[in-house]
Amino acid sequence: MPPAPPPKVWTIKELLAWTTTHFKEKGIEAAKREAELLLAHVLQTTRTDLIMRFEEEPTDAERAKFKELIKRRGDGWPVAYLVGSRDFYLLTFEVDPGVLVPRPDTETLVVEAINRLKPLTAPTVLDIGTGSGCIAISLAHWKKDAHVTATDISPDALAVAKRNAAKHGVADRMTFLQGDLFAPLPSTQFDMVVSNPPYIAQSEFADLAPEVRDHEPRQALDGGPDGLAYYRRIAAGVGPFLKPGGSLLLEIGWKQDDAVRSILAERPELELGPTLKDMGKNPRVVTAKKK
Ligand code: GLN
Repeated sequence: MPPAPPPKVWTIKELLAWTTTHFKEKGIEAAKREAELLLAHVLQTTRTDLIMRFEEEPTDAERAKFKELIKRRGDGWPVAYLVGSRDFYLLTFEVDPGVLVPRPDTETLVVEAINRLKPLTAPTVLDIGTGSGCIAISLAHWKKDAHVTATDISPDALAVAKRNAAKHGVADRMTFLQGDLFAPLPSTQFDMVVSNPPYIAQSEFADLAPEVRDHEPRQALDGGPDGLAYYRRIAAGVGPFLKPGGSLLLEIGWKQDDAVRSILAERPELELGPTLKDMGKNPRVVTAKKK
């Protein structure tokens, strides 16, 4: 009998190539990036480091762990939940299925907020529905004298946000309050109010990517029958919480510009500002000021 062929050797390079092809076949868009994120997680390293170590052979145990993650990703789990983190605007945030995964679209709001906060001394900011805390913590990180109050109705989300604040060393300049929109707030006025509220219309849930629809928290996405419920409630309630001249920045779905602008325009205490576009040139942030 001829000798058995030596067992196939799997280098990092080969594992990534195989997984990228497999993910593409599964219809996963960012196949290469996601394969790298999962293997980097298993090997407890970074994506760049993987490339330096292309010829290394992970152990059987590491390969088994990687295989399990490939399977779960193939079953629809968002990669951010599998690795427990997501990069957002130059910081890495812990995430779990109790919070929405931070999206690059939301960086539009953060960039604008930082620009508006820059000239202010010790500004106060309110983030409504903070989720992972990615907006609130980014603002506290990039504006070192800001105090940021973050609310969320979900205690699980607030626990994640608090850990992220501690991880990024900004917890001493933040206040976390659990409750529905403005309900948990003391009577106080902020220099800025920001929010990325749930804005998916209930009729649009069926069309969402299964990763989002089946795994991300419905509570963070569901904006009521027409997707606009939270804009109405924020517009109606925000007045007393803004200083005169203070900014309101709201992330919106790309088709909601006109609708959200008319909701805000009905409030005599608010003056509409420009709508800002995201990197894909879609309307993404509606702005207003308190008169
Ligand atoms: N941008 C998210 C999505 O399309 C929705 C976020 C939200 O509802 N605030 O999945």
